[in-house]
Amino acid sequence: NSNAPILEVRGLKVAYGGIQAVKGIDLTLRKGELVSLIGANGAGKTTTLNTLAGVVPHSGGEILYAGQEIGKLPSHLRLRKGLALVPEGRGIFTRLTVAENLQTGAYTRRDTDGIAADMEKVFALLPRVKERLNQVAGTLSGGEQQMVAIGRALLSRPQVLLLDEPSMGLAPLVVEKIFEVIHSITREGMGVLLVEQNANLALEVSERAYVMEGGRVTLEGTGKALLDDPKVRSAYLGED
Ligand code: ATP
Repeated sequence: NSNAPILEVRGLKVAYGGIQAVKGIDLTLRKGELVSLIGANGAGKTTTLNTLAGVVPHSGGEILYAGQEIGKLPSHLRLRKGLALVPEGRGIFTRLTVAENLQTGAYTRRDTDGIAADMEKVFALLPRVKERLNQVAGTLSGGEQQMVAIGRALLSRPQVLLLDEPSMGLAPLVVEKIFEVIHSITREGMGVLLVEQNANLALEVSERAYVMEGGRVTLEGTGKALLDDPKVRSAYLGED
C-alpha cells in the first residue's frame, strides 16, 4: 500500500528522569508529505524529534517506520533505514570543511557510486553549498550552515527527514530559500516532519500539522484549517 504512512507513532512517551516531556502522542507521516509540529517553548517538540531519531530513548509507545517497529534501534541503524535528523542548532562540525561535513552524512553507506551520485543531487539542490565546499563550516553564514546540515542529512539517502527549527535565527529571505529546498525534498517523495517555532510559516507551508502543548497533541489538522482556527490564532499566531 503506497499510501501507508512511512512513519507512524502511537502513544509515544518520553521522560527525562521524573519529568514527563512527552505524554502519549500519535503522529503519522506519508511519503512526500510536509507535516509540522508547532507549540510553545517546552511543549515537547524537540524531544519528539530526537526520540524518533533515536537520540533520546522513549519510555512508552511505538515508533513504526515502513510498518516496522524501530523504537529500540540505535540512531545509526534508524539512519541507515532512512530516518535522518537535522537537529536544533544544525549540529554541523564547525572546524571541518563543507565537503567533510557532507561526507559524514554518508557514514553508514558503502556504495561509493551511489554516494557520488547523491552528492551531485545535493549540489543541484543546494548550489551555494557546492560553491563553498572547501570553506571551514564554522565560517559560513547561518543560512549556509543550515543548507549544509540539510545536505549532510540528504547524503544518508533518507526517506524521512526530521527538521528541527530550520528557520532559527535566519533572515526572512533566507528562510524562504530554506523552505523552497524543503518543498523540493518533498517533491522527490521524502516525508518531512518539521518542528517550527514560527507557527504562521509552518501552517502556511505544511499539508498537515500537530499542535503540542505540555507534552500532548491538543489539535491537529490541515495547515489551512489550523490557520483558520480561532484557538490557534489566539494562542500561536499572536492574535486576540
Ligand atoms: P523548544 O522550542 O523550546 O525547544 P520544545 O517544544 O521543543 O521547546 P522540548 O525541548 O522538547 O520542548 O522540552 C520539553 C520538556 O522537556 C521541557 O519541559 C524541557 O525543560 C524538558 N527537557 C528537554 N530536554 C531535557 C533534558 N535533556 N533534560 C531534562 N529535561 C529536558
